[in-house]
Amino acid sequence: MAEVSLEHISKIYPGNKKEDRTSKAIDDISFTVHDKEFMVIVGPSGCGKSTLLRMIAGLEEISEGTLAIDGKKINDLAPSNRDIAMVFQNYALYPHMTVYDNMAFGLRLKHFSKSQIKESVMQTAQLLEMEEVLDRKPKTLSGGQRQRVAIGRAIIRRPKVFLFDEPLSNLDAKLRSQMRIELQKLHRGINATMIYVTHDQTEAMTLGNRIAVLNKGKLMQLDTPLNLYNKPSNRFVAGFIGSPTMNFLKGHIKNHDGYYFVHESEQCKISLGPTVPPALKNYTGELLQIGIRPEHIILCEDESNDTIADCTLQVTAYENMGNEQLVYFSLANNTLIIRRRPRDSVDVGTEKEIRFVRDKIIYIDEKSGEVINNDL
Ligand code: ADP
Ligand code: MG
Repeated sequence: MAEVSLEHISKIYPGNKKEDRTSKAIDDISFTVHDKEFMVIVGPSGCGKSTLLRMIAGLEEISEGTLAIDGKKINDLAPSNRDIAMVFQNYALYPHMTVYDNMAFGLRLKHFSKSQIKESVMQTAQLLEMEEVLDRKPKTLSGGQRQRVAIGRAIIRRPKVFLFDEPLSNLDAKLRSQMRIELQKLHRGINATMIYVTHDQTEAMTLGNRIAVLNKGKLMQLDTPLNLYNKPSNRFVAGFIGSPTMNFLKGHIKNHDGYYFVHESEQCKISLGPTVPPALKNYTGELLQIGIRPEHIILCEDESNDTIADCTLQVTAYENMGNEQLVYFSLANNTLIIRRRPRDSVDVGTEKEIRFVRDKIIYIDEKSGEVINNDL
């Protein structure tokens, strides 16, 4: 059993003034990783992911807050006594040792017997399908194999908690997706608590039971992959999760014989119906943003019935991926991206009528960046 809980954790690197809140590499983060959970921490480069992970591992001092495993505070416990293993992006293997010796190293330090070590190495090698390469040195292995050795070295000790810091970033795209499947399998196989850091939202979405989204040292949202996608709680998460990214438009809610969202350029007027929820009514006349995913804007010509267009815009680019198509439109200074199923191609330069799927629109407070209609 291993439940990791963070309560009001902050990190101020030496040299930064405590009073200056913007200098916190990690700023007041609280969450609990459940026993056997695969928790992903995602955010752009420099947002504090490694700092947070290193504090959990004990490699970095915790400036404020409480870190506990299974309810026991471990802020001041030495890394070696935390029963935590960490896997890094750059493998950190011993180059002069064979794969076998790399994996056995930690157990030898702990004075395991030769037969115990052999049994553990063989078991781990089997789990990771590495039996064939046990006699080889790291430099003769592919990137994927090296990372598997690094993972093997971590799991062989059967620690309570695994920490991964961008372990797949050095691998090419195909290998990354293969390793994602293997990591899922590994998690099911060894049933341990895992905390996995990445800047890659696809990796986060496919691996995590839950995902913590970080930005500038702060926790933006902690939720399941689907909830992050469908119910982002703020502008940052809405824009960070999903590819191509969500479309954002600035404008006003107006009421003339029914409610409308009117883009600030007035080139686009989305009918919202005869009434809107009270939370939105409060924004009537105020500048706000809407967000809508590329699959929730529709070319009117793709629909058989006579739908009413919200606007007519010019196609500025078109990409055909085979399984889907992306159509780019310009709306004043914005680019709108629409994702559609394979159909006839679209000519760049032509004008098209488009429609927004009204109940998929999210509304964002312009000042706070918070989503207004999450609980409407
Ligand atoms: P990430 O892993 O998300 O890319 P890091 O945790 O490495 O982010 O860094 C978060 C912030 O803390 C960055 O602004 C970085 O420059 C700063 N930082 C990281 N390590 C140190 C350090 N040892 N001393 C001072 N500042 C650091
Ligand atoms: Mg990092």
